[in-house]
Amino acid sequence: MAPKPLSPCPGYAPLTSGHKTTDWEMTSMVKESLNPFEIAREQVDRAGKRLKLEPGMLDILKHPKRELTVHFPVKMDDGSIKVFTGYRVQYNDARGPFKGGIRYHWNVSLDEVRALSCWMTWKCAVMGIPYGGAKGGIICNPKEMSKDELERMTRRYASEISIIIGPMKDIPAPDVYTDSQTMAWIMDTLSVNAGFAVTGTVTGKPVSIGGSLGRDEATARGAMYTTREACKKLKINPRGATVAVQGFGNAGYNYARLMQDELGSKIVAVSDSKGGIYSEKGFDPKRVLTHKEKTGSVVGFAGTKKVSNEDLLELDVDLLAPSALENQITSENASRIKAKISTECANGPTTPEADDILHKKGVLVIPDILANGGGVTVSYFEWVQDLANYFWTKKEVDEKLEGIMTRAFEAVWTMRDEKKIDMRQAAYMVAINRVVEAYRWRGIYP
Ligand code: NAD
Repeated sequence: MAPKPLSPCPGYAPLTSGHKTTDWEMTSMVKESLNPFEIAREQVDRAGKRLKLEPGMLDILKHPKRELTVHFPVKMDDGSIKVFTGYRVQYNDARGPFKGGIRYHWNVSLDEVRALSCWMTWKCAVMGIPYGGAKGGIICNPKEMSKDELERMTRRYASEISIIIGPMKDIPAPDVYTDSQTMAWIMDTLSVNAGFAVTGTVTGKPVSIGGSLGRDEATARGAMYTTREACKKLKINPRGATVAVQGFGNAGYNYARLMQDELGSKIVAVSDSKGGIYSEKGFDPKRVLTHKEKTGSVVGFAGTKKVSNEDLLELDVDLLAPSALENQITSENASRIKAKISTECANGPTTPEADDILHKKGVLVIPDILANGGGVTVSYFEWVQDLANYFWTKKEVDEKLEGIMTRAFEAVWTMRDEKKIDMRQAAYMVAINRVVEAYRWRGIYP
């Protein structure tokens, strides 16, 4: 039986963002909007129009359901008190509990968190896992804070948002500059207040307190599977293919490592916030990591030339993986991208205008909501294991992840072929169709 269609739902007020221009918007000379939430909404608009959604439904999909802003004091090591601002945006829960990471960064803004929560909604839908989308963040500079300060800030933020998160409601995970230690502090804070260990309250935890094997590399492993599938479609042999990776954190480093170790690709360029390195001959990312751990950056690794983050994107390579932050490929530099495939380990690295340019040039973009969906997929596995209190082997995790990634890739590829559109549009159409179906079944209350 087909679900009953919804009637249009008028009455949404236009969104007033309160957005403050961030550094990357200020420094950019390009004309398109670089406000991440405007970009996220434009992506929804584009797909919604192709799907011929009624205006009321499109309006629902362009609004977050719930937004919490918290201002909270933290005692700093020197005895002073500093007030931090944090957010938790719960975008959509039509298909299941809210799910999404927590970011610590000086550029965090409400609109950035809204955009990331919106992307999480489509990501969970395109991966076919039973979650909605959410995201959180704190405006802070974790690089300038001690571990004790980070712990106090994390615990207080967790307490402040505890009124809306929990294993059946909203399950956070790591994102930029947060990690398994951050998740352990959040899990402990919520557990202490509940009076018992609530392991399923966050994912990306250490394995000893209910984390899943394979979660640390899951985003990159999933991205590697989608790159492999794209290479098959485009008849590119990944063995020996040259790879440039922007960003050398959890996503970027593990992607470079797995592309080399499992697909035999040649890593020729990587970068971090301090700059990048290039070598025509290629290098082992594991050795670069050791160098970064000693010196604080990939820059200066023996046998490589320094390259800027901007130039890295334009290198003459087969495969590119933007794995740092938003808005790296814009209308300003898209025409100079030479890679055949761009695998978006990062969220939102390409603007809609740049998408059009890359599509015309024949660059296959594996969009973020598909490419980096491995992270949330293994987070889902972790949550399932926590709720069942029964844990899987790494082999089981990897096999299940591979199945979900290849099925999601195939669904998007089929939509792309049928509609003759780019992969992002196709991924959005697959995802939005699934969310809209949930709405049609559930209806609009009351
Ligand atoms: P991370 O904190 O582990 O690493 C971030 C990396 O980016 C660091 O190497 C940092 O030096 C580098 N960086 C920061 N600013 C940069 C700049 N301007 N240019 C180049 N490099 C820069 O973060 P992560 O978890 O690897 O996340 C990276 C991206 O992947 C983000 O967009 C995040 O939303 C996305 N992502 C991560 C996961 C995950 O499971 N970790 C899942 C899905 C998506």
